[in-house]
Amino acid sequence: MERTCRNTELSIKDVGRKVTLIGWVAKRRNLGSIIFIDLRDRSGIIQVMIKDADKATDIRNEYVIQVKGEVNKKEVPNPKMKTGDIEVVAEEINVINTAMNTPLIIADETDALEDTRLKYRYLDLRRPCMQKYFDIRDQIKISTHSYLHKLQFIEVETPMLCASSPEGAKEYLVPSRLHHGSFYALPQSPQMFKQLLMVAGFERYYQIARCFRDEDLRADRQPDFTQIDIETSFLDQEEFLTMMEGLIHEIFMNTIGYDVKLPLRQMPYREAMERFGSDKPDTRFGIELHDLKTIFKDTTFEAYKAAEAIKGISVPGVAAETSRKVIDNLTLEAKKFGLGGLAVLKKENGELTGSFVKFLSDAEKVALIKELAVNDGDIVIISAGPYNRVTPLLGALRLQYGKQLGLIKPNTYDLLWVVDFPMFERDVESGAIVATHHPFTRPKDEDIKYLDSDPTKVISYAYDIVINGYEAGGGTLRIYDQNIQKKIFNILGLSDEEVEKKFGYFVNALKYGTPPHAGMAFGLDRLAMILGGTDNIRDVIAFPKNLAGVDPMSMAPTEVSQKQLDDLGIVIPEKE
Ligand code: ASP
Repeated sequence: MERTCRNTELSIKDVGRKVTLIGWVAKRRNLGSIIFIDLRDRSGIIQVMIKDADKATDIRNEYVIQVKGEVNKKEVPNPKMKTGDIEVVAEEINVINTAMNTPLIIADETDALEDTRLKYRYLDLRRPCMQKYFDIRDQIKISTHSYLHKLQFIEVETPMLCASSPEGAKEYLVPSRLHHGSFYALPQSPQMFKQLLMVAGFERYYQIARCFRDEDLRADRQPDFTQIDIETSFLDQEEFLTMMEGLIHEIFMNTIGYDVKLPLRQMPYREAMERFGSDKPDTRFGIELHDLKTIFKDTTFEAYKAAEAIKGISVPGVAAETSRKVIDNLTLEAKKFGLGGLAVLKKENGELTGSFVKFLSDAEKVALIKELAVNDGDIVIISAGPYNRVTPLLGALRLQYGKQLGLIKPNTYDLLWVVDFPMFERDVESGAIVATHHPFTRPKDEDIKYLDSDPTKVISYAYDIVINGYEAGGGTLRIYDQNIQKKIFNILGLSDEEVEKKFGYFVNALKYGTPPHAGMAFGLDRLAMILGGTDNIRDVIAFPKNLAGVDPMSMAPTEVSQKQLDDLGIVIPEKE
């Protein structure tokens, strides 16, 4: 089709030039005999002036048109537009296609509900702000390909239809037509395949990999998502992290022109939990957690005497607005974390006040004020109970207050590694031992001795990259000794037979000259979200699911025909 260039390639230098443009009618303004059209294409918007209104009477919003005309200097420039100095004076307009009235406004500002946006996603994606997210996403991929290829990485695809392997989250299963009663699983990640590629001698692998996890959805989670999946041989942790920092630097520079200062700092997991109550701390603001065990060592308050952890935060300047209702809400929050409640104190006129004060000795009051640097007008929140409930509760409240008080500067980036994760943790509900990262993580050499006696003491070679409080990626050094690998499976409660059945091929492969290897995966969607400046992961995925796991456009998941079920040998019980 005849077209000179994209809209925003034109500038004041082109005044007088004859051009042919193609695009969608973003807006139309009638000024008597003159009509102005905002013409939108992938690159942006340019104004078209139609002097003879008759030529454009039947042109409506979102029509696809071709405009032939001359570039003119605008009398009153619009500094907000990239092409604000110029306009195209139309000589000929051809309607290429018409459009119905759209169910949502195709502009950055839209008041459409998210489900409407997802139902008409192709229109939602026509909005310039949405297209910007995809430019960023695309640039992340381009930067990844070019950076990794320079370092001799090779991109290899791994299967989508895999054997079921309980890696952590629930899997999506695909019934086999040829083997009734058997299922493929969609990969939660290409973890074992990429490790096998190291056994195969590829040395440096990557893949922009689609992954699937059947978890409850959140603002930053989707059931099918994309990872930049990486695996390398013969690098130690520091060498590997340095290489990955280079990738992150390249991505930030090429997408938003931000120069990430390297090396990134590393914070042990334990410190992140102690100070920020989170393994993905947002360290752009304070309100750090303080350990109050020592202050309460002689407490007379029964509930505190036996508490495993007593921790507190002070929040500046919110005493006046901390009403009974606010305190009730904080208590509700504590209950969500499985705690009975929490204590809230205010400091007013030099004194701590609040219903909890009666349980405090004078010495405890003085010590609290000092430890938490409490000023008049501040509040103190104290929580006591099991460590793994108290810390995340205060971590969550810290974040809530950080946002509420505007302590996080926009367009600032905070990147760090969280390292030295425990190898195992206890599942909060079942109490069972589970792998913190995944069962292929290598325990620290000096902690191997605890594998038999006290596995929860074992620290692993694991690292997460945390950006602005999001876990943007994570990985580990891998076990390359089949005996240790077997032992880890056993600690996780898998018998030798189960290991053989589920992971036999994998454990077997480790016997054939496995190189020491390490890897990680970056969440591509999360990176796009952070760099795009949105906190909704659906904004950076072309056709996402809503929070109920449904795609409102195609209505997936849908029921299927009886014939399809019969072919697969699946019988669905009658609904009661
Ligand atoms: N497979 C891991 C994940 O998806 C990342 C890794 O260890 O490489 O979280």
